[in-house]
Amino acid sequence: MIIILKQNADKESVEKLRKNITARGLTIHESIGEFAGIIGVVGDTSKIDMSTFASLDCVNDIKRVSEPYKAANRKFHPYDTMVNVAGRITGEGHFTVMAGPCSVESEEQIIEVANRVKLAGATMLRGGAYKPRSSPYAFQGLKGDGIDLLLKAKAITGLPIVTEITNIGNIDLFSDVDIIQVGARNMQNFDLLYELGHSDKTILLKRGLCSTIEEWLMSVEYILSGGNNNVILCERGIRTYENATRNTLDISAVPIIKRLTHLPVIVDPSHATGKTWLVDPLTKAAISAGADGVMIEVHNNPSCALCDGAQSITPDDFDSIMKEVKRRVLFEGKVLS
Ligand code: PEP
Ligand code: MN
Repeated sequence: MIIILKQNADKESVEKLRKNITARGLTIHESIGEFAGIIGVVGDTSKIDMSTFASLDCVNDIKRVSEPYKAANRKFHPYDTMVNVAGRITGEGHFTVMAGPCSVESEEQIIEVANRVKLAGATMLRGGAYKPRSSPYAFQGLKGDGIDLLLKAKAITGLPIVTEITNIGNIDLFSDVDIIQVGARNMQNFDLLYELGHSDKTILLKRGLCSTIEEWLMSVEYILSGGNNNVILCERGIRTYENATRNTLDISAVPIIKRLTHLPVIVDPSHATGKTWLVDPLTKAAISAGADGVMIEVHNNPSCALCDGAQSITPDDFDSIMKEVKRRVLFEGKVLS
């Protein structure tokens, strides 16, 4: 951390600052120029709230020189993390395809979609049982019954299942779920993240609707610092002024996450765009950008879907997307997993 002092800073205030720093067990490297001085703070500054120094009269500006996220940081963990879910790997050299409906609606629906996506080559089945909806009047999901239906679909197809948790109080219902999804709306539900960090489940952490990459990484830090290293990140688009799409897919987040962290990152082109016809080109973009997988919404009858029908592709469309995915994944030297 670097503290830039004001021009002609008051000596007493600077001394107060020095004492404040050293009292925290940190050391100081000072460089005093003709007009202003710079104080370099050396040591673990991750727990320091920068605003405490900013309140001192002598301080002009404060800059961090190291990232506040440690456990996710590639600097301290140079090798890619590979997440193993029921023998299926996500990360380094592997490409994961999670597919299925936005929400589980009935036994017939989830079994039919599960069979179709499995046949097309999906490696995991997604489906929401607990749905965080903007309107309290909208379909809220089948909840525990939805998880039971996903488990049925898993027993039939052998596909590991991914489903969203909205409340830690329901965690016992997720004991046979392979990947617990934390949705965009809960990315900063820190109590939930803390508890999941102390569980042994694999977590899929989606990016918040309006979150910066650093905020997203601080959220993942809650999980990793609890001892749970089985985390996959998911870029699902963020809110911008653009309204041609439901969200704006931040495709650059993929190489940025891969550079900053050691964690696998997948892309959700369905929620990123809200439009079926954009799922195909953005799936290709995700592969080219180096994503470790995609999550795609597929429904057997999108026009009657209880949630997100406008962005849900048919099993036939999923078949043709998967043909191209397989070709490109092979071209990238990766294996579908
Ligand atoms: C979902 O995956 O169904 C979902 C609600 O996604 P998000 O949290 O990204 O909106
Ligand atoms: Mn959805």
